[in-house]
Amino acid sequence: MKPAALLAELRSRGIKLSLSGEDLVYRAPKGSITSELLSTLKSQKTSIIDELKVEHSLRDTNNEFENLTRILELEDSVDQTDRHPYARYVEPVKARLLNRVGLDINYERAEGCFLFDEQGKQYLDCIAQYGGLPFGYNPPEIWSAINHTRDQNLPNVATQSMLDSAGQLANQLLNILPHDFEQVIFTNSGAESTEVAIKLCRASKNRPGIISTRNGFHGLTTGSLSVTGGEAFQNGFFVRGNDFHHVPYGDADALEEVIKKHPDHFAAFVVEPIQGEAGIVCPPQGYLQRVREVCDRHNVLLVFDEVQTGLGRTGDLFAFEFEEVIPDVLTIAKALGGGLMPCGAVICGAHVYSTHFGLRHSSTFAGNALASQCGIATIETLLADSRKILNDVKETGTYLKNQLVRLKQEFPNLVSDVRGRGFMQAIEFDFESLQLREGLMPILADEGILLHLVISYMLHQHGIRVAPTFMGRNIIRLEPPLIFKTQHCEQLVAALRSALTKLDQGNVAAFVCHMIQLPEPRRNSIASRSCRNVVIREATNDTAKHVNEFGFLVHLRDLDDLVDFEPTLDAFTSDELSDLKHQLTRSSEPTVIGTTDIMSTDGRIARGHFVLVPYTPDELVGMPVERAIEQINKAAFAAAQENVRLIGLGGFTSILTLGGVALDCDQLPPLTSGNSLTAAATIDAVEMVCKQRGLKLEDCEVAVVGAAGQIGRVVSSLLADLARELVLVGRDGSDQRTRQKLSEVADQLNARASIVIAEDINRISSSDIVVLASSATEPFISSQHIKPDAIVIDASRPPNVSENVIVARPDVTWIEGGLIQFPHNSELDLFAGPHQETAYACVAETALWALSPELGEPSAKRILNVETVHKLRMAARKAGFTVAVQPR
Ligand code: PLP
Repeated sequence: MKPAALLAELRSRGIKLSLSGEDLVYRAPKGSITSELLSTLKSQKTSIIDELKVEHSLRDTNNEFENLTRILELEDSVDQTDRHPYARYVEPVKARLLNRVGLDINYERAEGCFLFDEQGKQYLDCIAQYGGLPFGYNPPEIWSAINHTRDQNLPNVATQSMLDSAGQLANQLLNILPHDFEQVIFTNSGAESTEVAIKLCRASKNRPGIISTRNGFHGLTTGSLSVTGGEAFQNGFFVRGNDFHHVPYGDADALEEVIKKHPDHFAAFVVEPIQGEAGIVCPPQGYLQRVREVCDRHNVLLVFDEVQTGLGRTGDLFAFEFEEVIPDVLTIAKALGGGLMPCGAVICGAHVYSTHFGLRHSSTFAGNALASQCGIATIETLLADSRKILNDVKETGTYLKNQLVRLKQEFPNLVSDVRGRGFMQAIEFDFESLQLREGLMPILADEGILLHLVISYMLHQHGIRVAPTFMGRNIIRLEPPLIFKTQHCEQLVAALRSALTKLDQGNVAAFVCHMIQLPEPRRNSIASRSCRNVVIREATNDTAKHVNEFGFLVHLRDLDDLVDFEPTLDAFTSDELSDLKHQLTRSSEPTVIGTTDIMSTDGRIARGHFVLVPYTPDELVGMPVERAIEQINKAAFAAAQENVRLIGLGGFTSILTLGGVALDCDQLPPLTSGNSLTAAATIDAVEMVCKQRGLKLEDCEVAVVGAAGQIGRVVSSLLADLARELVLVGRDGSDQRTRQKLSEVADQLNARASIVIAEDINRISSSDIVVLASSATEPFISSQHIKPDAIVIDASRPPNVSENVIVARPDVTWIEGGLIQFPHNSELDLFAGPHQETAYACVAETALWALSPELGEPSAKRILNVETVHKLRMAARKAGFTVAVQPR
């Protein structure tokens, strides 16, 4: 079997595979791996690893943009009034993303390697505007050049004249470059430099074609964007066309192949000596030499884009010096303005420069005196003291690299690579290994937010400013100002180590606290870590027969569920937790949070995929009903993606959609509220407790609270045949609509018992047995509602009786209703039931439909029928599912 097919086969069995460093790790539901499959896994391990790596690299920036777009679309509309004018008027989109991860800081002051916020807190800058700040913030040498320009009243721009400062800077640039270069064309940015390079080369060769590299970054104006090698940036802007080709970076053969295929078509090959935005990617040794040879062989110009690498960033003045390969055209920008002025240049040999170009190109502010004087000062500063800054970058850069290598050794599962040269380095995280963790960490990694949370953690907790790259995934770039010292590297590495330690510990609290403006969690909660959201790590049983998949929609029962799901969050108070939950859910979608296998006595397996709608009952009921239904619909579609036979609706996902009727049923697998088995389990529990207590149902007055609801209705009709007297009551008995519904229920009862429609809840205080089946979001039964020694079966979720009432009335038999025990499972998903061993009957019912094709298919319904209840009761017995009578 080919590796891709094998992967697909494994995944279809619910097996999750991921890479941990160079190793393969898998997570499989119990019974899903047969011994035969295990030996295939072992024998094909290497090819599976290779296939996973390919898949990994294919998850490109496109996904990232799609993800971000989705997040932004999901967010509630933002109240603009209190927003910073920059967020409101300049960068409304990016500012929201920054805000989401706590990076929207307003820095008031900056000096050297440090920025200072409004409170005066200091941040060590390890970004340096991606190379645009060679000497940090407000370097005195560059300010002197600006002051000089003013003191001398230099004409800043004067077209059709000799621009003295531009001439001086050109002279200086040519002096620090090999003699092959003779012409300098000034620009105002990196992208403009790329534009100029395209025009120069096309004019020189009189050919249209430009080749560049995949994931190469050369700017975002339309011409430079065509050269940039990331479709994600290009999509929607109608750039590129037939004249732009992209070849894999590091592959000189691929370059030659493309050139040969289109003879006399290409004017130039544009390439970065180290790819910056791709994730600080160094080419294989000898690559630049080989592309030089290919270009020479085919009469194609070679352009090195040193906008990011140029002017000291890698420890050399220019990165091409490292391989001693000289291009025909060199583009620079960023550092040239010394961090204070925009200034760029394209430098080429006489053989490239043409009259055609010279006559037809200009740019109003290119080569202005202020920028040129800054450029002059920049080069002087770089050359001062026998190039001391450059020597320091080499030395300190090597120190930094060694420290990063140590981090990789310390955290082999979390750091997949460190790379780069001088002060252009990167650390690549491997979040795949987190997929095997429990709790929130894998979800944050999946959503693509974890890297940003790590960055935010370093900023807030350690005052260290780092950034991702545009196109690299899970990569932090380290591009500090060239004046960065060893002690700064130590601070940076300490912050990285701390972040890695927290990731390793699975300490989600540390990464999310700044979302709620907490500098750090109040207490450390790692010790108490014990998660219940599954999962079975290894195959323990190979007797698996046929596996049937089902989806099940759940919501948070209360905020404690969040802590159960992610125990490190117990570091927060309930107010903080509620704030945090709001931040986390403000832009997240329902997602699969666990998978559980349920086995029948005869070995059939139903595999449940639990999808969480991340809201509590209060929140779901409090939001506009269309919004709640939209969320539940999304959850149902997320479940459908797991190829499930049917979907069960837990708790309020059923109540709010009227048992699924309000969902897009025709586009979804069959739906069930799971309420039929809940009703059956409730009746069974009533009978079992009566037996234990020696009571006869036919002598009892039984009250059903919530009798107008889906479960209450069918429970009532079953009890009507069994009890002496049946009291039907709504949560608010005096409400006109409830009374109307209750009398409809009463009319349809084929009753042996005498039926009473209660006007108010106090009526239940004479009942021997009370069944609670309401959809109240808060407990409302109080101590005086219950008769002495009564039996109360609470099948409501959330429960209708609070702990206080239970403690106050030890005479009453309090039972948690609607629970099922499975024959084999002992480890159930957090949301499958209230205890490790017992499941909600609605989960069990969904599993039954999945296990028993002979039952047919369920359908979304408002009203249950008694026949289905009986049918499921029988199917449950056959599968070995028993009713759990759980004292509260
Ligand atoms: N070329 C490279 C290699 C770059 O890294 C960048 C920017 O990051 C550019 C071109 C575009 O520069 P600018 O943002 O000044 O247009």
